Amino acid sequence: MTIAAHTSVLATYVRADVTFVEGDGSWLTAADGTRYLDFAAGIAVVGLGHGHQAPLAAAHEQLDRLWHVSNLYWSEPMSRLADLLSRRFGGAQTFFCNSGAEAVEAAIKHARKATGRPGIVALEGSFHGRTLGALSATGQPAKRVAFEPLLPGVAFAELNDAASLEAAVGPDTALILIEPVQGEGGVNPATPGFLAAAAELAAEHGALLCFDEVQTGVGRTGTFFAFEQLGIQPDLLTLAKGLANGLPIGALLVGDHAPTGLEPGDHASTFGGNPVVCAAACAVVEAVDEDLLANVRARSEQLAEALPVRGAGLLLGVETESPAAEIVAACFEAGLLVTSAGPTTLRLTPPLTVSPDEVAQAISILQEVFR
Ligand code: PLP
Repeated sequence: MTIAAHTSVLATYVRADVTFVEGDGSWLTAADGTRYLDFAAGIAVVGLGHGHQAPLAAAHEQLDRLWHVSNLYWSEPMSRLADLLSRRFGGAQTFFCNSGAEAVEAAIKHARKATGRPGIVALEGSFHGRTLGALSATGQPAKRVAFEPLLPGVAFAELNDAASLEAAVGPDTALILIEPVQGEGGVNPATPGFLAAAAELAAEHGALLCFDEVQTGVGRTGTFFAFEQLGIQPDLLTLAKGLANGLPIGALLVGDHAPTGLEPGDHASTFGGNPVVCAAACAVVEAVDEDLLANVRARSEQLAEALPVRGAGLLLGVETESPAAEIVAACFEAGLLVTSAGPTTLRLTPPLTVSPDEVAQAISILQEVFR
């Protein structure tokens, strides 16, 4: 795998030297005709696989009818998507934006406004996005230092260490922000006990608990929301990535039981709730049914039987002895797209629709690469 330099594109990414031109299910085709088995899925985004008919038809139909009206008016797909998400959550109101980082920004603003406090407690190793607020709450100093000073009042606790969380939460805490499974930080699941402690601490101190489900949401861990497996419902929840199968969207859900915060004039997004994107997202939410979730769980078990994985559902990590970037490159040469999550974690995030045969193909490539 060589690294491409396209000089008109600002070089904020290390990109593989490949241009993809078509996608179909779990497969991508490059400009030279080479086909790749896609266990990256656009970094855990294309949950239904490339070209899935349901969001495709919904987006086409909406594209022909109406593209954009702004949030000064209602649009039918946005209202319908909010209803669908509310039903899945068990009662919530949604703010729509365009990315995961924006959803986290909205969570921070909501919590500050609702509590009148400035503080955020997040976790070491976490990832919440690259905008300045979300970056302030990202527990990876290497990503933060060049952009300091960031938001004041952010404290970091250790993942799965309830005592460290207790020490970090105090009377100034507005928000406790946690990924149920840390994705970018190395595919590290939070234990149910730790998350229960977070919920108790939030209630005790009058802080809001937000699960950042940007990566774990929309079926990726085997339930629509990861929190469904924990029996803990957060006050706030952020979504993005898989929600529109690849069209840009972000969402902040505010549970009906949570304190109110944002009022008209407090927060906004010109493109948030775009009708075409929301029409696609409605089709995605409807497609994440019991059959699809059963496939996520079964394919996850298939991978776990063959490889030493950690994580949940189809958000899986494998610890590597050599640098993960080298394994990613070797998989690429063998026709398999995977990503890394930190220096020594290989991350597998195939489409949720991936077949048993495709998983078997990926396993045999990975076993060959790891040999
Ligand atoms: N939160 C989590 C848990 C993420 O995994 C990510 C992206 O990887 C983000 C937030 C930021 O999302 P975006 O890249 O859409 O801004």
